[in-house]
Amino acid sequence: MNWKRTVGLDNLSDEYSFARDESTGYTSAKKIPDHWVPTTCGYCSVGCGIEIGVKDGRAIASRPFALHPVNRGKLCPKGLSEHYTIDAENRAKYPMLRKGGKLVRVGWDEALNVMVERFRATQARYGVESLGVLSTGQLVTEEFYTLGKLVQLGFGTNNYDGNTTLCMASAVSGYKISFGSDGPPGAYEDLERADVILLIGANLADNHPILCQYLEANRNKTLIVADPRVSKTAMMADIHLPLKPRSDLALLNGIAHILMRYNLIDRDYVDKHTAGFAELERFLEGYTPERVAEITGISQEIIFKTALLYGRAKAGFIGWTMGVNHSTLGTATVNAICNLALLTGHIGRAGASPFSITGQCNAMGTREAGFASSLPGYRKFDKAEDRAELAAIWGIDESRLPAKRGWAYPDIVEAAVAKKIRALWIIATNPLVSYPNQDVLGHGLSNLDFLVVQDGYHPTPTTSLADLVLPAAIWGEKEGTYTNSERRVSKVNKAVQPHGEARSDFDIFLALAEKLGCRDELYRGWTTVEDAFNEWRRVSKGRLCDYSGISYGLLAEHGAVQWPLTEGADPSVTSRLYSDGEFQTPDGRAKLVCADWAPFPEQPTPGYPFVLNTGRTVEHWHTRTKTREVPILERLSPRAWLEMNPRDAKGLGLRSHDSVDVVSRRGRVRAVELRLTEITAPGQVFMPFHFAETNVNEVTQDAFDPISREPNYKQCAVRVERSGASA
Ligand code: SF4
Repeated sequence: MNWKRTVGLDNLSDEYSFARDESTGYTSAKKIPDHWVPTTCGYCSVGCGIEIGVKDGRAIASRPFALHPVNRGKLCPKGLSEHYTIDAENRAKYPMLRKGGKLVRVGWDEALNVMVERFRATQARYGVESLGVLSTGQLVTEEFYTLGKLVQLGFGTNNYDGNTTLCMASAVSGYKISFGSDGPPGAYEDLERADVILLIGANLADNHPILCQYLEANRNKTLIVADPRVSKTAMMADIHLPLKPRSDLALLNGIAHILMRYNLIDRDYVDKHTAGFAELERFLEGYTPERVAEITGISQEIIFKTALLYGRAKAGFIGWTMGVNHSTLGTATVNAICNLALLTGHIGRAGASPFSITGQCNAMGTREAGFASSLPGYRKFDKAEDRAELAAIWGIDESRLPAKRGWAYPDIVEAAVAKKIRALWIIATNPLVSYPNQDVLGHGLSNLDFLVVQDGYHPTPTTSLADLVLPAAIWGEKEGTYTNSERRVSKVNKAVQPHGEARSDFDIFLALAEKLGCRDELYRGWTTVEDAFNEWRRVSKGRLCDYSGISYGLLAEHGAVQWPLTEGADPSVTSRLYSDGEFQTPDGRAKLVCADWAPFPEQPTPGYPFVLNTGRTVEHWHTRTKTREVPILERLSPRAWLEMNPRDAKGLGLRSHDSVDVVSRRGRVRAVELRLTEITAPGQVFMPFHFAETNVNEVTQDAFDPISREPNYKQCAVRVERSGASA
């Protein structure tokens, strides 16, 4: 407290005085801006429209963008306080280079020269593939498109992936196998128009809060939520299925079995639009209700009820998020979801969709335009025709495009452990908190010859390890587009200048291309992100994710529009994929997939008797790099906790608020606050994953889906000890 306050001369009038604002009425005077800048929320993939209030060149307020089609005048707590992320204390302001063991401030020219020299030297010595790149789901699409070209055609490596692989790669792989392409088929409007909604491993109330208003608006639905926890979303359900951890695949197969047995399938749709029915029918014979009840812990009666509700629905919607994706069986589980939609014809119609709700604000953008799991425009690496088409658009020799994707995220980490990756460029992500089994990651990073971290924040656990930190502009400081979970492209606008010497990721990529000598070849004539967008429109033309009818002008007029949008098409019509029953497979038929269930890899033992589940809380986002800097969010949820059922706690002699350690075969998280609750079933514990200080990824398992390479974050075996008990 300052002395004026102590003696009563400072009555905090600056802080608490009010004034009248045209749109909000009486408001804190310091929150009344000079003007509002419309943009899109930079947190989750719901993609809400938001306006940033700007006063004297600073972001001072956030409010819903009332006309935006997604959020209809509402925001969640993160969106409402998002402007605080811009002026956070820990913003990265200057390039920093490690000299004599310390990160010291350098100019951009030196930073980029050193980066290019060190990457080139590493590639000359160990091969071009010794350079790895890990990006994010948080850049604008124009930046993803620019980065993909730079990594592949500029640096010449295809060991490039994003932290989106830690989040929704299983949805991507599953869609590709079932439908021939990535791309969520439905729209948010389906949540209002379905008569049966099955959410699997999807806690929308915490993770995608604004979607709950779509659920609430639908008064004619039956909502079924399958989740081992009684999550906030499960509390909204008509039927909660508290299934055993990782038994969702068996449940889905059991539902399909019942649909077949009681002839609740749409035979006409199956015959016309799918392949593999006979094999699937034989395969599903093994998923009897008796067996599925045994695996899932759900009674046969409830399994039947669920199957009959979905099978008889006029429009059945299945939504899922990380509860499905974060698994060694994630891809297979997505295939089983798609099977249900195909067997019943619940796809391509209003209310009917197998719908992956994705994670970060622009995870979709990297899926579409990036160069990681597909060539831009969902083109396939292994399809010569796709490579030839892309090479022709770009005017390059086709041999410069790889015929297979490079290493995925965990394989890049493991290659660093094996010293095959020697230099790494990490962009807008924080693996020192988010990667499973931190011990392995730490080993890999310590093996590197050169680590560059490009981020809007410093220090973070990851930037602190870097040899070079590149400060990037963040949300509110740059322009471009995000695509949300329903394929809706929304404009992101610049409201304020970047902090310090930070530059937009787009500018950094172009500057690097200049240093590499490939700017003219790759980005001829480009000066703005709109130049990148216009090229991307051409590259996407004729593809499933066709942007050719979308322009910045159109986005300004409509707020946000869905792809595909061909030139001249009506942007106001809700778009759904596969309405004509034509899929992106060679024969145009969707594939029915035999996806077998298996127990999760690390089962509990007497030494590690609990199954640890990890997840999110509404106040925080990712590794809390941003949200810990937002006072209201941080105060609401300042530290991690461990949820345990009271019956288990009694057996261990533990009480609520005790400090406990969570221990697995890989490590120990110390001093976590214990919360006793029936939300978590006996034998299971739950911990949120946002917290660097008590990082649950010290104990999670580095087991991965064999197809998507997504980690099995949701189940591993742990024991819980009173803190200090083993000292
Ligand atoms: S629901 Fe997601 S997109 Fe909407 S305001 Fe909240 S964090 Fe932002």
